[in-house]
Amino acid sequence: MLKCPAFVDTHLHLSLGGEPRENARRQYDAGIGLVRDAGDRDGCLEGLDFSPLQVVRTGPALFKPGYYGAFIGDRRQVDLEEKIVSTPAGFVKVLLTGLVSFDEYGVVGKTQWSADELEKIVVTARRHGKKVMVHVNSDAACRLAVEAGAHSLEHGYFIGRDTLKMMADRRIYWTPTVAAMANQLQDPDGRFSAVQLQIIEKNYRRQLEMINFAHEVGTPLTIGTDSGSYNVSHGRVFFQELELYRQAGIGREDLLNMATIAGWEMLEVPVDRWITVDLERFPASDCVTAAVEPVGATTGSQGGIILP
Ligand SMILES: [Zn+2]
Repeated sequence: MLKCPAFVDTHLHLSLGGEPRENARRQYDAGIGLVRDAGDRDGCLEGLDFSPLQVVRTGPALFKPGYYGAFIGDRRQVDLEEKIVSTPAGFVKVLLTGLVSFDEYGVVGKTQWSADELEKIVVTARRHGKKVMVHVNSDAACRLAVEAGAHSLEHGYFIGRDTLKMMADRRIYWTPTVAAMANQLQDPDGRFSAVQLQIIEKNYRRQLEMINFAHEVGTPLTIGTDSGSYNVSHGRVFFQELELYRQAGIGREDLLNMATIAGWEMLEVPVDRWITVDLERFPASDCVTAAVEPVGATTGSQGGIILP
């Protein structure tokens, strides 16, 4: 048994796929102690109490009217700086591209911001002590986000090897959200054609290859599930994401570290929940053998995975 900080999901949406506080409860029950909410439309989560789950809220995402993202976006007619200043936490969510096409392999929704615009967002955020997480797909757009100084790249389908190496050098995090793609294969509502299902499978298999490469070259990887999006259920999918990282070739110890202490450090939140994990069963959903209640907060860097 290993005692370690609780799990951390660095990308989900509590306002989607169910009642927000119920969604938070499901996360907590799965052994997760901290999540980052990556966008709530018009700030609809404002004022809700999610305790005992700790929630880092980016607030509504920055997007351009007419482009992808209104459903989690900031639709106010105010300037960008005001939007950035009014985000509730230290992270600003920016939508750079649209979704991955299921009709044509490798095609993604159009890019919303130019290199200059994105850089201005990052610089403005930095001036206000905030970091930028970028929803992005396609290698060209990932490169744009890296050059602009993003703190993390979210999704990153079709990212290239050289871009991942740049991210390793610059310590930029990657959140591949691969279970959100792989889960589409189950397609409970029968939304997809046989051709679309083939493209979905190809997408997620390529993502696994890139996860393996990223780990090899030292790109900081983090566990984000995009829970709340279609067919991505709160709580359970966290373990599916981890299982896919295992399939991508990541060892158990490294993965446990990524799923726990590294998340608290990335989000700069002192650890206030500990769990014990059966490493042999990890990452099955029953690997948490006991939820240890808060015994006084310690900082992430002082924590670490320790033997009882
Ligand atoms: Zn998302």
